[in-house]
Amino acid sequence: MPLLRQIAQLGHPALRTPARPVALPAKDVLRTFVDDLMATMLDADGVGIAAPQVYDSSSLFIVASRPNPRYPDAPLMEPEVVINPEITWRSDEVVKGWEGCLSIPGIRGHVPRPQRIRARYRTLDGSEVEREFVDFVARVFQHEDDHLRGIVFLDRLDSTRDIICEKEFRKLTPP
Ligand code: ZN
Repeated sequence: MPLLRQIAQLGHPALRTPARPVALPAKDVLRTFVDDLMATMLDADGVGIAAPQVYDSSSLFIVASRPNPRYPDAPLMEPEVVINPEITWRSDEVVKGWEGCLSIPGIRGHVPRPQRIRARYRTLDGSEVEREFVDFVARVFQHEDDHLRGIVFLDRLDSTRDIICEKEFRKLTPP
């Protein structure tokens, strides 16, 4: 049975510490950790989660966009475990979209990000993947990738006026 991990909240140094590369292929302890991370993300209605959010410094995150109470309009995808990523290309076109963060509860930010990215990373078995992501999934990927570098979405805002409370966010996206 996977364990639910405690999620670090903004202010904890774990969220500001760059992650370290993961040795591959994954040993059992890493697979167990990924199972825990997945369970923790699903329990919290996240669409992604990065290792530093559960006090672990591995360069690893999960992207798992799907519609849920926190993101009713999110597209459905097969969850992807992303290890040692590098964003190799970003589109010039930048779009703003609403983001929240399990480590920053209660608020949302309207965050500008490149609309399309290309990324290279490894999977649990150690194989290399290069893939393009677009729109909401590209946004989640970049949000999680930032966590590996000690960056949170608040750091990416144009203005503090682009922060709203969760209650007001829910009025923007009625169920
Ligand atoms: Zn986050």
